[in-house]
Amino acid sequence: MIEFGWEVMEYFDKNAWVYLDGQFVKAEAASTDLFGQSVHYGFSAIEGIRAYNTHNGTRLFRAEQHYERLRRSCEEVGIGFRWETDVLVDKTYELLERNNLRSAYIRPLVTSGPNMYLTPASNSSIVITAWEWGPFLGTDLIRTTLSPYRRPSPYSVPMAAKVAGQYVASILATTEATKRGFDEAILLDHEGYVAQASSNNLFIEKGTTLYTPAAGHIFPGITRQAVIELAGIFNIDVVEKQLTPDELKAADSAFLTGTATGIVGIAAVDEVTFPETWSDTLGATIQRAYKNLTLEKENYEVII
Ligand code: PMP
Repeated sequence: MIEFGWEVMEYFDKNAWVYLDGQFVKAEAASTDLFGQSVHYGFSAIEGIRAYNTHNGTRLFRAEQHYERLRRSCEEVGIGFRWETDVLVDKTYELLERNNLRSAYIRPLVTSGPNMYLTPASNSSIVITAWEWGPFLGTDLIRTTLSPYRRPSPYSVPMAAKVAGQYVASILATTEATKRGFDEAILLDHEGYVAQASSNNLFIEKGTTLYTPAAGHIFPGITRQAVIELAGIFNIDVVEKQLTPDELKAADSAFLTGTATGIVGIAAVDEVTFPETWSDTLGATIQRAYKNLTLEKENYEVII
């Protein structure tokens, strides 16, 4: 047996509920089809949503956008999706209530039924799970490394689809990076440009401008979009373009964005430490504004 030594987290206990195909059931009683395509071929679509404990109560951040993305992910690869976004949002709030969760990470998953031929199955299933989860990469600045693994090619899998099979590359990259003592891997795209981290988007700061790899060769995150919107409010220029590894290493600072992570600053890429003190960066300003946005502090421009 191979021993990895990773920390094992319990995602549910005997009291936990999940939402499964229109019904709330106990997590320990829920199951999936062992002959389904999701188990055999990684043919399923996922989402990751956060709920925040705000002064307006528990609030999902951009839940409609996440469920619409789940619909598009399924449509792009041919997994049947027959659920309404507003119903899924309502059921997610109910799920949080049933599980007594005020802030949480929510993982909707659409699985594809049995069909060993390599065409979509005729049935699919949705499950929504939720658990309490701190920031995915912690709150300290992280140390990253350029991964020998690359993002899947857009000619193989639609880039904007959050399809489970794509995460094999993410798992390999993260495992390799953490074994070498880094916190996170940064992956190049199939053409050798900097794409993103295993499950986060990347921004770099150079001078007074933020740069982020352009859509097309990356997974275009909802947090990335929120960062671009916030930068607009602050009159910070954001340029979406292909970035070389040398451009990344010549940055003044850099940060990662994602639902599970929020915004986290990067201390270094391999041997190169970014020169700007994090608290002085545009990224730190956006980080505070993003926190206020998710907590529904409407005057977030004033608060920071
Ligand atoms: N890239 C990948 C591969 C992801 O899985 C995610 C989401 N975990 C992101 C980027 C960030 O996307 P979002 O901001 O929508 O969470």
